[in-house]
Amino acid sequence: MYTNHMHLEFDSKSENERFARVTAAAFATQLDPIMEEISDIKTAISEAVTNAIVHGYEGGEGTIYLDGEIKDREIMFVVRDEGVGITDVKKAMEPLFTTKPEEERAGMGFMFMEAFMDDLQVESEPGKGTAVIMTKKIAER
Ligand code: ATP
Ligand code: MG
Repeated sequence: MYTNHMHLEFDSKSENERFARVTAAAFATQLDPIMEEISDIKTAISEAVTNAIVHGYEGGEGTIYLDGEIKDREIMFVVRDEGVGITDVKKAMEPLFTTKPEEERAGMGFMFMEAFMDDLQVESEPGKGTAVIMTKKIAER
């Protein structure tokens, strides 16, 4: 099986949301994705990284880890933080659920990640942090 891996660490700052999204998209280009697939990946990474910044580290300092792994035609990304964590993952993933309605959060992030990627797994432990694992199959053409 063909495999390829990338790892990136960056500060929890909103300026780095674009950096992470563009890097993930650039890593994916070796699979010759179409524009729509690239755009799906960018949206999913953007939502996961934004969550790490605003919820995981609550706007404070911290490090965000982005891993990308290609296995044949499948690409997996892991966005991980060592922030506050999530007490009830199932509830947090419900459409329109947000703990920050006062900050104009809509509770759409996990919905987008689920819609634009083929698989979404969230592992979290309160006080330890959160890992969002997303995979997408890039069609052969
Ligand atoms: P939106 O993404 O529409 O701006 P949102 O971020 O609140 O709103 P989701 O991205 O779906 O919505 O996340 C739902 C909830 O899950 C968040 O409100 C937050 O409570 C929790 N959450 C998500 N990611 C993390 C994280 N990395 N660390 C801690 N809590 C998180
Ligand atoms: Mg969000």
